Amino acid sequence: MKPDRCSLCNGKLHEGKTEFVARVGNRVVVIKDVPAFICEECGESYFTPEISKKIDKIMREFHEGKLLMRPIAAGEIELEI
Ligand SMILES: [Zn+2]
Repeated sequence: MKPDRCSLCNGKLHEGKTEFVARVGNRVVVIKDVPAFICEECGESYFTPEISKKIDKIMREFHEGKLLMRPIAAGEIELEI
């Protein structure tokens, strides 16, 4: 099963790799090199069910505190309007 068109803007998708970023409380997990179909127009990424399952598994392990991660620097700022 392979997505064909972006469901947001109907743009073309191409195969590539992306980063999956999720935030849980004060912690952020970044999964690198995730194979995805990426929209050429808006950059939205789509995962196959198989990849989604792998991401779910990683997120479960993250919640259970079982995940071994390399630390990276992260910063946070509020948008002033
Ligand atoms: Zn799009």
